[in-house]
Amino acid sequence: KEKSATPVTKEELGRATWTLLHTLAAQYPDKPTRQQKKDVKELMGILSRIYPCKECADHFKEVLSIDDVLDDGVGLEDGGLEVVEIDIVGLLELLELDTSFCMFDRANPVQTGSQGDFSQWLCHVHNIVNRSLGKLVFPCERVDARWGKLECEQRACDLQGITTNF
Ligand code: FAD
Repeated sequence: KEKSATPVTKEELGRATWTLLHTLAAQYPDKPTRQQKKDVKELMGILSRIYPCKECADHFKEVLSIDDVLDDGVGLEDGGLEVVEIDIVGLLELLELDTSFCMFDRANPVQTGSQGDFSQWLCHVHNIVNRSLGKLVFPCERVDARWGKLECEQRACDLQGITTNF
């Protein structure tokens, strides 16, 4: 007889998610392609909306400073007006344009320029969550020692970025 499913706790889900994200950051290329940068930004935005713990998702949204007007907006099916918020800063970042003139910059924009940038950014935002939960802050200079690349034969698991050997 199959074992009945045991519900996953918020803590287990959190540890599994951080493992996925820090491993992703460890494997992220030094020279990511435009698509890889876009994917990482989108992944963080999506997580902040559909992470399966609403309290955590809302908190993460705050950490990333992504407002989600549509989330609580009145839907068209209710006969109300649809509120469409254009994420100008996100759009400019995606196009790799200057965002320094924006008055309302995001507090913690996802850093996707290189493996180092992304893993340090992730360590930083994980620490913001740690602090809010009264946990110890992790020393980010040790992030590469804690989260290495996947053990995988002949580096077959490594993500390929922009390669210089052509
Ligand atoms: P975790 O925080 O899960 O960390 C796992 C391991 O990562 C640690 O053992 C340590 O070795 C390493 N580590 C710790 N800090 C860092 C760092 N800064 N950089 C790199 N490695 C590190 N829980 C809530 O109760 N409320 C919330 O609002 C909430 N929001 C969350 C938002 C997100 C996006 C995620 C992924 C999780 C959230 N959680 C939240 C869960 C919470 O962060 C923890 O995962 C959970 O409490 C279990 O904590 P833990 O002490 O086992 O270690």
